[in-house]
Amino acid sequence: MNQMGTESAEVTLRVGLGRDVHRLAEGGDLILGGVSVAAGIHCVAHSDGDCLLHALADALLGAASLPNVGVLFPNDLEENRGRNSLEMLAGVVDLLGKKNLEAVNVDAVIQLERPKISGFFTAMKDCVAKVLGLSAADVSIKATTAEGLGPIGEGRAVEVFCICLLRKRRRICPSHEQ
Ligand SMILES: [Zn+2]
Repeated sequence: MNQMGTESAEVTLRVGLGRDVHRLAEGGDLILGGVSVAAGIHCVAHSDGDCLLHALADALLGAASLPNVGVLFPNDLEENRGRNSLEMLAGVVDLLGKKNLEAVNVDAVIQLERPKISGFFTAMKDCVAKVLGLSAADVSIKATTAEGLGPIGEGRAVEVFCICLLRKRRRICPSHEQ
């Protein structure tokens, strides 16, 4: 809002960056982008540990200048134990809607030594696109290894970086409504 109480049209696009990291442990399934990968490893987390959706949620929240997902869904609350991160993402989309913001496109890179997950990208993109109200063509997900370096390279962690673009839906200026 500007000083006249009318909707500002100065900023219509906003960019956001999110990053998340989780330790990996033996057993179970790896959940990334809302898709369960039978990998024999899982993310250590209070929630379902969906590192991709957490980084994406933080990118969206960052673009909207809102607190990050760890503030909105604290990991010391029992109600968040095992929480489905798709629910969290849907909650974030609701918050954006209240600010008249919607996603234009998102781009994520997953750093993971193993397993190979490229065969799951289409399902992940479909899953994310559905929650964000986007076409799968507007959701980019890719992965790299860490070339054996550091905790990611040693297979002890997964890290995701995500960037997003939001647009502000234009409102009719009140002074022009009559
Ligand atoms: Zn996380």
